[in-house]
This record gives sequence, structure tokens and C-alpha cells, in this order.
Amino acid sequence: MSTSRKCSVAGCGVYVPASILMCRRHWSQVPHAHRALVARARSAYQRGEVEGIELEAVEARATATVCAPPPPPGAPAAGVTYQGVRITYGGRLIDCAVTTRGGVLEPHESRHVCDYAAGFEWGYSGAGPLQLALALVLDATADPQLALDCHQWYMWAAVSQWGASWLTTAGEVRGWVEQWQREGDGAADAPLVVEGGGE
Ligand SMILES: [Zn+2]
Repeated sequence: MSTSRKCSVAGCGVYVPASILMCRRHWSQVPHAHRALVARARSAYQRGEVEGIELEAVEARATATVCAPPPPPGAPAAGVTYQGVRITYGGRLIDCAVTTRGGVLEPHESRHVCDYAAGFEWGYSGAGPLQLALALVLDATADPQLALDCHQWYMWAAVSQWGASWLTTAGEVRGWVEQWQREGDGAADAPLVVEGGGE
């Protein structure tokens, strides 16, 4: 069987085998962490562990990193990743670390905008998750007022839903913000959150 389809990036006319998401040139622009997520979702799909619609959502997220509009002034590129891990030692929680661009995202900058907590948390509604939501929107938009306005909704819609480890991108965070700008605090059906991932 030799079906083919167009590269999934909008406006790209390159034909690729149906089993391939996008052309080589565009695939090379997808952040490494997202390529790994697609590979993992595909093998899970082949094993029958995830539905086709879940695979499509992961693939759409990878495509979105290439199609994403340019970042606002001072904000990181759409493919820049944020990754959270819980560090435990002897069963005790030591830290909730958030990494980005080869370094650590610290709470202090967001605490100047609104001070909820000395550290980040996620997976529930509370002070630590509010600080993380604020810090992520602040970092991804470089807009303190916008971050102040929508971080509570973002915490509720996204950050409070995350598991032990998570991965998101600046483009995704801005996608949530855009949804909030379109639909307000009632916006419910926010972009898919995939937990885990990264290398
Ligand atoms: Zn292409």
C-alpha cells in the first residue's frame, strides 16, 4: 500500500508517505522533546494503548510548533520547552523543579508580580500552582499585566491538572492565553495536556 499525503504543516505542498507526519525539512524544526512524544504516542497507538484521536492530538501539537506565529517582543520562540519534575529523596519531596532553555525557571520574577508561594507546585489548586501558572504565562508572554489577568484561569485549566512530571512549550502557553482572551474565564475545553515526555 503506497498512499501519500501532504506534509501536515499548513502551506507546505511536499507529499510524504501516509505514515509520516511532515516533510523532512519541517520535521527537523520540531523541538526534540516533541519528536520524542510523537514517537512514543505512535508506538503506544500501535500497541493499542491510546486512541487514534489521542495520537492525532500529539501530532497536532508537534505540527503547531512549526506553524506557530512569531513570539511577542521579549518572549521565547514557540518551541521553547518548560519541563517540570518532582525530585524526591527517600520518599520525601525535595523540590518541584522547572527547567527551560538549559536552566531553571525560578519563582522570584513572578513573585514581584504577585507573591503566592516561595516555590512552584502543580497537580492541584493552590498557592504553589498559582505561582507556577503566573511564572509560565509571564515567561511565555513577557507581559506582566496579561499574566496577572489570566494566570488564575490557566492554573485551573492546565497547571492543576498536571501529573508528577509534565512538558509544555511557550507556544502552548500562549495558545492557552489566546483561548482565554477569546472565551474568557468560562473557556473550558483548553488545549490537550500531555504529561511526562522529554529526555
Ligand atoms: Zn513540509
